[in-house]
Amino acid sequence: MKQFLKNLQSLQFKLVMIYMLLIIIGMQIIGLYFTNSLERDLTGNFKNNIDSQVTLIDTRIQEIFQETGDDREQMRAEIQNLLADYGNRPEIDEIRYINADNILVGTSRISNESLVGSRINEPMSQDALESGIANDEIFVNVDKDNQRVWIMNQPVVVNDEVAGVIYVESNVESIYMQLEAINNTFIIATLFSLVITSILGIFVARTITKPITDMRNQALLMSEGDYTSRVQIYSDDEIGQLAGSFNILSKRVQEAQANTESEKKRLDSVITHMSDGIIATDRKGRIRIVNEMAVGMLNLDLQSDELHGKNMLELLRLGEELNLEDIIQEANDSHLIFIDTADERTTLRVNFSTIVTDTGFINGYIAVLHDVTEQERIDAERREFVANVSHELRTPLTSMRSYIEALQEGAWQDEEIAPKFLSVTRAETDRMGRLVEDLLQLSRMDNDAEEIQKEVVDFKLFINRIIDRFEMTHKDEVVFTRHIPDAPLFTDISVDKMGQVLDNVLSNAIKYQHGDPKRVDIHLKQNTLYNRMTIRIKDYGLGIPNNKVDRIFDRFYRVDKGRARKMGGTGLGLAISKEIIEAHNGKIWANSVENEGTTIFINLPCEVIEEDEWDV
Ligand code: ADP
Repeated sequence: MKQFLKNLQSLQFKLVMIYMLLIIIGMQIIGLYFTNSLERDLTGNFKNNIDSQVTLIDTRIQEIFQETGDDREQMRAEIQNLLADYGNRPEIDEIRYINADNILVGTSRISNESLVGSRINEPMSQDALESGIANDEIFVNVDKDNQRVWIMNQPVVVNDEVAGVIYVESNVESIYMQLEAINNTFIIATLFSLVITSILGIFVARTITKPITDMRNQALLMSEGDYTSRVQIYSDDEIGQLAGSFNILSKRVQEAQANTESEKKRLDSVITHMSDGIIATDRKGRIRIVNEMAVGMLNLDLQSDELHGKNMLELLRLGEELNLEDIIQEANDSHLIFIDTADERTTLRVNFSTIVTDTGFINGYIAVLHDVTEQERIDAERREFVANVSHELRTPLTSMRSYIEALQEGAWQDEEIAPKFLSVTRAETDRMGRLVEDLLQLSRMDNDAEEIQKEVVDFKLFINRIIDRFEMTHKDEVVFTRHIPDAPLFTDISVDKMGQVLDNVLSNAIKYQHGDPKRVDIHLKQNTLYNRMTIRIKDYGLGIPNNKVDRIFDRFYRVDKGRARKMGGTGLGLAISKEIIEAHNGKIWANSVENEGTTIFINLPCEVIEEDEWDV
C-alpha cells in the first residue's frame, strides 16, 4: 500500500497524469465545439427543410383559398389531401391546418382525423394565430419513449389577415441519435488515445525520469559516503547536462572528501603524537576527541574512545569550580590540576579555548593539558634555593654582628674574650667566603661557564697522593686503609676538580665520625669489561638514615643541620662533587647504615692506554 502511494507520488506517474489530463481537456474542448456546431448544422438543415416544405404548403393553401372561394367542403378536402401528401415524409410526424377560429381543418395523421372540425387547444398555435408570427419549440414527447419532437406553427396570411396556422410536428430525435453516435465515436477515440498516450507517456516519462532516478540513487550513495559511482548520460539535453554536472559535482565532492580525510588523518596524527594532552568537546562540553597523551596524563584506565560523551570538566575534576560559561568568559586562563598516583603527584596545567563558528556560535571547547610537574619542581627548588642561600648567609652574618656588637660594647678591652670573639668572627667570615665561592662554582657549572681542563693521569698515583696528604694532616687521628691495585689506571680527568671531589668525600668521612682513631677505607677497582673504574670510600661514622641517603647530593641538604653547620660545612660540597663527576661522564652515589658508617661510590670511565705508550 505504502509502495503504491509512493508510486502515485512519483514523477513518472505525475507526467503520465499530466499527459492524460491534457488529452482529456483537449478532447473535451474539441468535442464540445465539434458537437455544438454539428448539432447546430444538423438542426439548422432539418429546420430549413421543414421550413421550405411549410412554405410550399403555405403557398398551396393560399392557392386553395383562391380556387375554392366559399366552398368550404372543397377547400377542406383539398387541404386534407395536401397535408396527407406532405405528411408522408419520414421526418414529419403530423401536419395540421387550423383555421382562424382554432378549428382543426385537416391533419396528415389518420389517427387524428376524428378531431377534424373540433376546436384545438394548442397554446403555441393559438399564439401564432393571435400574433401572426411563426413560432417553434422542441419538446420531449413523454408518450413516445422520451423522443424529441419539433413543433412549428406557421401562420397563413390571406388578404392581409391571418386565415389559419400550419402546425408541423416533426421528429428531430434522429438528429440527436446521430449526434449521440458521433459523441460515442468521439468518446471511444478519446479512450483509445488515452490508452495510447498513457503507454507512450510511460515510455516518454521514463526517458526523463530514468536519469533523474539514477541521480537520486547516486545522491543516496553519496550520502552514505560512496562517491565512486557515476551517473550514465543518456542524452545531450538539459537532463543530460544536469547528469554531467552531477557527475562533476560528485567528483569534486569526492576530491574534497579525500582532502578532508587526509587533513583529518594529518590532524589525528598531530593530535595523537602531540606531547600535550588534547581534549575536544561539543558545545555541551561532552568529549568528542581525546588523545592518548591526555588519557595518560590523567592516569585513566580507559581507552580514549571510551571517554566519548563524558563531561570534560568532570573528567578534569574541575566540575565544581568551573562551568562552560566561565570558560567562555575567561578564555586563555589556565588552571592547575593535580593527579595523585601511588608514588608521585603530577601537576597539569589546563588551558581552555572555545571553537567559534563564522556566525559567532560556540561549537565546542578545547582543553590543552601540559605536564608542568617538572617545571613546578624546578620552581619549588629555585624558591627553596633562594631561601636556603638567604638563610645560609644570614646565619653567619647574625652571629658576626652579635660578636662585633659585644666587642664594640667593651669586650675588645678584655684580653681573654677579645681574641676568641675575633677568631669566631674570622671563622664565620671564612665560612661565608667558602659559601660564596661554592655558590659561584655551582653557578658557573650550571651555566656551563667553567671549562674543565682534562688530562690523562694514572689514577692510582693521583688518589695515593691525596690520601698521603690526608694522612699527613690527620696523623694519629685517622687510619686510612688502601685497597688500590698496583697496576696503573689511566683516566682523563681534571686533576683540580677531581681533587676537590675526593677532598670533600674524604673530609666528610672524617667529619661525620667520632671514633678514636677514625677509620677510612679506600677501594679502587677497575672494570675492564666496561672500561670503567669504581672508587669506594668507606667510613665507620654516624651514617645517614636510609630515606635521606639519596638527598645528600642535593644543594644545601644536611642530615643534621646544626651539627653540619658547626663543622663548617656549607651543604654544597656533595652537590658540587656530583656536578663534577657528571661532567666527567661518571656517577656518584652513597650507601649508608645509621650509626655504622657510610660508603660513597664514584664510577668513572678509564682510558685504554698501553703502559709502554705512557712510559714513552
Ligand atoms: P657539608 O659541607 O655540610 O658537609 P656536603 O654536601 O658535603 O655538605 O654533605 C651533605 C650532608 O651529607 C652533610 O651535611 C652530612 O649531613 C651528610 N654527609 C655527607 N657525608 C657524610 C658521611 N660520610 N657520613 C655521614 N653523613 C654525611
